[in-house]
Parts: sequence; C-alpha cells; structure tokens
Amino acid sequence: MTKNIAILGSTGSIGTQTLDVARMHNIKVSALTANKNIDILEQQIREFKPHLVCITEEEYASRLKAAVSDVDVKITSGISGMKEAAQLENVDTVVNAVVGAAGLLPTMYAIEAKKNIALANKETLVAGGGVVTEAVKRHNVTLYPVDSEHSAIFQCLQGCSANSLKKIILTASGGAFFGKTKNDLKNVTVEQALQHPNWNMGAKITIDSATMMNKGLEVIEASWLFNMPEDQIDVLIHRESIIHSMIQLKDNAVIAQLGTADMRIPIQYALTYPQRLPSPVKELDLSDIAKLTFAKPDNDTFQCLDICRKALRKGGLYPAVANAANEAAVELFLKQKISFGDISEIVGNTVEKFRGSEQECSLEAILSTDMEIRKQILNQ
Ligand code: NDP
Ligand code: MG
Repeated sequence: MTKNIAILGSTGSIGTQTLDVARMHNIKVSALTANKNIDILEQQIREFKPHLVCITEEEYASRLKAAVSDVDVKITSGISGMKEAAQLENVDTVVNAVVGAAGLLPTMYAIEAKKNIALANKETLVAGGGVVTEAVKRHNVTLYPVDSEHSAIFQCLQGCSANSLKKIILTASGGAFFGKTKNDLKNVTVEQALQHPNWNMGAKITIDSATMMNKGLEVIEASWLFNMPEDQIDVLIHRESIIHSMIQLKDNAVIAQLGTADMRIPIQYALTYPQRLPSPVKELDLSDIAKLTFAKPDNDTFQCLDICRKALRKGGLYPAVANAANEAAVELFLKQKISFGDISEIVGNTVEKFRGSEQECSLEAILSTDMEIRKQILNQ
C-alpha cells in the first residue's frame, strides 16, 4: 500500500477527493501542485504540511509564499517545480490529477524517478500512450488507473488471467444531453452543458461527457492500459452510473464492478491496492435504485466517440491531435466563443486534415504537435 504521495492538481475535483482518502488512511502527502488556485492551496498546506508545493503559473508563486510565510514549506513554480514535485524523494506514488495534456510531461518525470502512478489524467495516455507505456516497462513501475471505468476493469480483472479477456465494455452516463437530437443541441448553453447527471467533476471533463469525447478518450485510455485493440472495446450507455464498467471473458462470462458514483472508491483502490479498506462512500442499495438501464450510444448526434476511435486506429500522433483539438475547442466553448456543436466539428476536421506520423512517436514530437494544434485552433 502507498505510504507517501505527491498530488499533481491537488486543488481540483480529483485532487481534493484524493486528500479525503489520504486524510482517512493517514497517507503522508509530501507534495502538492496547482495551476493558480492559491487560496485552496494555502488551506491544504496548513492541513497536510507538505514538504514541497508548486504553483505552475509563476506569477502566483510570490503571493502564495507570502500567504504561508509562517509555514515550513518549499514553494516552487513552473514546469521545473512540477518536475521537483513529481520526483520528490521518499514519495512512492504520484497521483496525477492535472487536467489536460499538461499532465503528460509530469507523468513522464514521475516514471523516470521510479514512482508508481495513480493516473486520473487520462490525457497522459491519450496523447502519449506509446511513450508512457514504454517508460513504465523500462523503469519497472506500476500505473494504477483512477478513472472510474478503468478502475472498474482493473478490479474485474483481479483473479482473471489477462489472456482470458475477450472484450471490454465501458459504461457511459451519456452526459448532460443524452437523448437530444442534433437540432436540440444547436443552442445549448455552457451552463446546461456543465450539468452532469451523476458526477460532480471539473469543467473540462464535464463538457467532454456532454459531447461524448470523454468516452472516446477513455476508449484510447483503455486500449493502452489493457492492451486491447479498438474493436474489442465496446461502449454502453448506462444512465444510472452504477455499473462502472465490465469485462467479457472468452467463455462469454461478464464481470461487472458496481458501486455508488463516488470517485473516492477508485482513488482509494489505486492507493491501497491490493487492500480493501473502509471508505466513507455511501453503501450501494440496489433495491433503492430498482432499475438499471442500458442503450447503444447515438454516434450520429455525438460524433466525438467515433472520431477518437478513428484516431486510435490510425495511431501515431492522431490521438494526440484529437485530444489537443478538443482541449482548445472546449476552452473556446467555455469562453462562449464557439457553440456546443462546433466542438465536434473542430475535433473532426482537425483529425481529418492532419497529415502526420501513424508510427510510434517521440515525446518531443507529441508535445510539439499538441502545442501546434492548440495554437492553430485558439488563434483562428
Ligand atoms: P479540475 O479542473 O477539477 O482540476 C484540475 C487540477 O489541475 C487543478 O488542481 C488545477 O489547478 C490543475 N491544473 C489545471 N490546469 C493545469 C495546467 N495547465 N498545469 C498544471 N496544473 C493544472 O479537474 P478534475 O479533477 O475534474 O480532472 C482531473 C483529471 O482527472 C482530468 O484528466 C479528468 O479527465 C480526470 N478525471 C476526473 C474525474 C472527476 O470525477 N473529476 C473522473 C475521472 C477522470 P487550479 O485549481 O489552480 O486551476
Ligand atoms: Mg471515466
């Protein structure tokens, strides 16, 4: 079991829930990072007394230093500070709860320092699956999934040999606009898109759930984590978010993992594996829920899932391109500069137009392509 963690992105939805788990199980928290949220960071520093804290936006570092001048903590900033946090001595597991492809480089730093990774930042594997998987093997570390579907699959696989796996069935809530038509979606607002039926998450992933991009990213993530080809990863709409995902074995037996929709279960499992410890998460009462429903995804109205599948089949830089285009488009949508429907248009057109390597690529190629695509879309 993990004893000492660094949390990258500690002020976000996953970051704060990771601190709940750490608090409950007395896991030492040695490093914290955030982008600019110094108020929450200050509270976290006072409670958890980490050795090192990094604020990536450098202009906030002096304000944070002043706010905690009475506390014995090292404050750093920028990517060098992130590297220090990801590689801090005595930390055994780095929880990556950063949002977006900004999490890729810190994941690589942590792996190079032989840390295990509890990975919430799915964009790490979407953009850099090949280089990350290779580095995990080379440095002999373990990557524990935190994303609820991937944790569910990881849990289902306990006790099954990997070669008995036939298919992965990722469940999807369907997001804020399940059942809507293309026409209905023309004038939806940012506020409406931010209403997720079952999970309370950061803004970017909530929009990704509404477009179904999140499930597309998760198909790519699952493909890397469980070494499965795209056509052996199914997606099933399950509005209640009680079954977090399933596996189908070669004999057609299906194993599912169920639970209340609360990220503290997968976070805790990633940190306490292989142990099962008490948790504050509400017990599941199936008689109360009474009915579980399932449906096929509507890939005509929500095109991002198929765009991601196509990018995964192409390989090379294509998933990184789809991801970067999506991050830029979601940023523009949140600033109300484009419409909801424009997000999938932009992602689809960007992947369609891209001409680049379909072979495994270097980290440098991935990072520069990511930056280039983002720039193109944000400056249009
Ligand atoms: P949030 O937006 O709530 O939090 C993101 C965290 O990352 C914050 O601490 C933020 O700091 C920091 N951050 C933002 N931008 C940068 C950057 N450019 N460089 C470094 N740090 C940055 O996101 P979530 O917690 O919802 O999601 C985190 C990751 O986990 C995502 O990859 C998401 O897809 C995944 N995930 C989330 C789930 C959830 O339930 N929330 C479920 C499954 C997966 P600041 O507060 O200063 O902005
Ligand atoms: Mg998920």
